[in-house]
Amino acid sequence: MAVATSYGAFIAGEWVQGEGGAEIEVRAPYDNSLVGTVTPASEAQVDAAVAAAKAAFPAWRKTPLRTRVEICRRAFDLCMERNEEIAEVIAREVGKTIREAREEMEEYTVDHFRRASEDVLRYYGNVLPSTQESTGTKRIMVVQEPIGVVAAVSPWNFPVDIAGIPLVYGLALGCTTVWKPSEYAPICANMFVQLLHDAGFPPGTVNLVHGRGEIGSQLVKHPDVGSVVFTGSVETGEKVARDAGLKNRVLELGGNGPQIVFADADIDKAADAAIMGCFYLAGQCCTAAERILVHASVKDRFVEALTSRTRDLKVGDPTLEETDMGPVRTPAVLARTKAHIADAVEKGARVVLGGGNDGQLHEPTIVDGVTSDMRIAQEETFGPVAPIMSFESADDAIRIANETHFGLTASVFTNDLRLAWKMAEALEHGTVHINETTNYWDQMAPFGGAKKSGAGRELAGYILDAMSETKQITWEIG
Ligand code: NAD
Repeated sequence: MAVATSYGAFIAGEWVQGEGGAEIEVRAPYDNSLVGTVTPASEAQVDAAVAAAKAAFPAWRKTPLRTRVEICRRAFDLCMERNEEIAEVIAREVGKTIREAREEMEEYTVDHFRRASEDVLRYYGNVLPSTQESTGTKRIMVVQEPIGVVAAVSPWNFPVDIAGIPLVYGLALGCTTVWKPSEYAPICANMFVQLLHDAGFPPGTVNLVHGRGEIGSQLVKHPDVGSVVFTGSVETGEKVARDAGLKNRVLELGGNGPQIVFADADIDKAADAAIMGCFYLAGQCCTAAERILVHASVKDRFVEALTSRTRDLKVGDPTLEETDMGPVRTPAVLARTKAHIADAVEKGARVVLGGGNDGQLHEPTIVDGVTSDMRIAQEETFGPVAPIMSFESADDAIRIANETHFGLTASVFTNDLRLAWKMAEALEHGTVHINETTNYWDQMAPFGGAKKSGAGRELAGYILDAMSETKQITWEIG
């Protein structure tokens, strides 16, 4: 069943056809069936979307906070009502399992409305004394003002949740928004924008343009955009950083997360965590366990535990309840996964399980004997592979874990408190989990990467800083 849509853009509260060339056909990665089509926006339509957002900003920022929060709460209710139909489309167009798609909607996306409507009520400035002069008659106020137009450019792996962060927080704060979703997941984006509109966000506050990289680039460069929130690969993120210039921005980029398993760890728990880390969403998470570092003395035991669990995974049609792992989304992900495995084998690694594919369905794969000179150890694979590396000492593990230019999420399995503390401090990653999978994130905590994995933080209230101006107002009261 195709979702009938050929919309291209949502500008100033109206759906319009995109005028930027040939339709983008969205085909399900599992069976190549047509999910729907969208038309890319033209350059003039990107300008029109930004102009609509700019025009809507003065009235929206002055709309009482209470009204903005009430609309957020209505959107929360609507999202609860429409979760399942959006999740079904995500499962088809992205290929994540229906259980993973529901999690994206029910656990993460819906929560943005709840959190944003609470966080903006507690996002305020300060009154400070001055030490500049001896009069004691100066007072300094610091206020947080919405920045204006927020541009959100998002990837396909969490197509609604990830864009939902800047959109929902931005709107709650009084900003207006323009969203360029991934060309690989545009249909669920249309459904989410319709939901925001139906909840009552006024025309012009929410705008959408479809298209590929060049449309994203034009949006990011636009002089009337105040803040850019980009999530995607390091390669694109570096271009976006250059294009955004001096604009406020958050960059949430790729990862190459190590899961480190020490000799004293609970091996069963560590193996469960690796299943989640390597095979959740077929490995296509920025926080995936891209390298499993295991102490040499327990490596064989760990590989055995991981192998028996991996054999139990049901791989197939993502729309079926019983499926544990679906296909990889794009031909590029499939090609890179295969190239990384081939390179590892050529340099001396051994495929313990899997390695093959049937179209976009790639087997969950375990590769043992991985070393630092292999591409699979240095680059983000973003596919369903567990590369096993071994180490002899904590310092050895730290060196390997920190040797790539990524720094998003790391996890450490040990029951030794001192060792865990030492590792948490030594790992150059935005998040370090102790005895938890790399694929864990929490709506209550700041999320973001060190090194090339990004700049800035989102989740919790942290993203509000990227979408506001901190303004100083000085009072002479003498
Ligand atoms: P991508 O970088 O290919 O594309 C992301 C978005 O950027 C898409 O909408 C794309 O159309 C757009 N784009 C492409 N070129 C552009 C340009 N020059 N200017 C502006 N926009 C441009 O990434 P992807 O394949 O969609 O997603 C996978 C990547 O995203 C992985 O590297 C993954 O680790 C990363 N990711 C990071 C996080 C995080 O929070 N850190 C979360 C999810 C995914």
